Amino acid sequence: MTFFNDPTLLLIVIILGVTVILLQLYIESRRKPRELPRITRTLLKCTKCGNVLEIDYEEGDFISLVKGKCSKCGAPMKIQAIYTIEVKQPK
Ligand SMILES: [Zn+2]
Repeated sequence: MTFFNDPTLLLIVIILGVTVILLQLYIESRRKPRELPRITRTLLKCTKCGNVLEIDYEEGDFISLVKGKCSKCGAPMKIQAIYTIEVKQPK
C-alpha cells in the first residue's frame, strides 16, 4: 500500500493544502490597507486676486464654472480643480 492509496491520508493532505491556501488568502486580505472613505472637494480661485477657497463639491460643479464671489475683493470665483480627498476618521 502506497501513501496515496490510503484515502484517509489523501484526505488529510487535501485538507491541509486547502487550509494553507485559505490562510494565505486571509493574510493577503489583511495586509491590504482598508480603503478610506473619500469626499469630493471643489477648489475655487478668484479671477481677480487669486484668493483660493476649498468647498464641498456640489452636483453640477465643473472646472472653469463661475461660482460665488471672492471674500476678499468681491470678484467672481472660478472652479480651478475638483478632486477627492481621504476622510480622516477620528480615532
Ligand atoms: Zn479676490
